[in-house]
Amino acid sequence: MPAPFAVSTGELFRHPGARHPLTLVGRLPGLALSTTRLADDDVVAEVVLEAQGEAVTATGTVSAHWVGECRRCLEVTDGVVTVELSEVFEPDPVEGETYPMGRDEVDLEPALRESLALALPLAPLCREDCTGPDPESHPVTTAPDPSGSDDEQPPADPRWAALDALHFDSN
Ligand SMILES: [Zn+2]
Repeated sequence: MPAPFAVSTGELFRHPGARHPLTLVGRLPGLALSTTRLADDDVVAEVVLEAQGEAVTATGTVSAHWVGECRRCLEVTDGVVTVELSEVFEPDPVEGETYPMGRDEVDLEPALRESLALALPLAPLCREDCTGPDPESHPVTTAPDPSGSDDEQPPADPRWAALDALHFDSN
């Protein structure tokens, strides 16, 4: 399978300093962060490539569809993340600053992966005002009594009060 984000550099180096706008579309399987991962869907990179000396610069954006678990109600939720890119690729990359490139082509995939991984929501919400699990169908279990006396049922009213406090905890 050809690398979807690899670009031949011949044309770039024939016109140093010229701007080459490109739209690259492909999959980046296996990209995940905690319970959030990229959806089984195309990643779209809209970049302008430019040869500068021996290096190639890529500026633009990359957008991807992600799926994850709402941190409050634990239902599946999803969204789109778009990241600004400004990357340099060169034959002798500087660790942590620039990316490597081949003799005849530059593969943007490592840069796209890194940018998206940093931008995936670590603790997404299905909606801003999600109040957590529906107490009717998903009762919240209260924290175990530190004394270990599980037999004693607390009175009903304080339990509901505690639940309400949980729901409106705007974390
Ligand atoms: Zn939710």
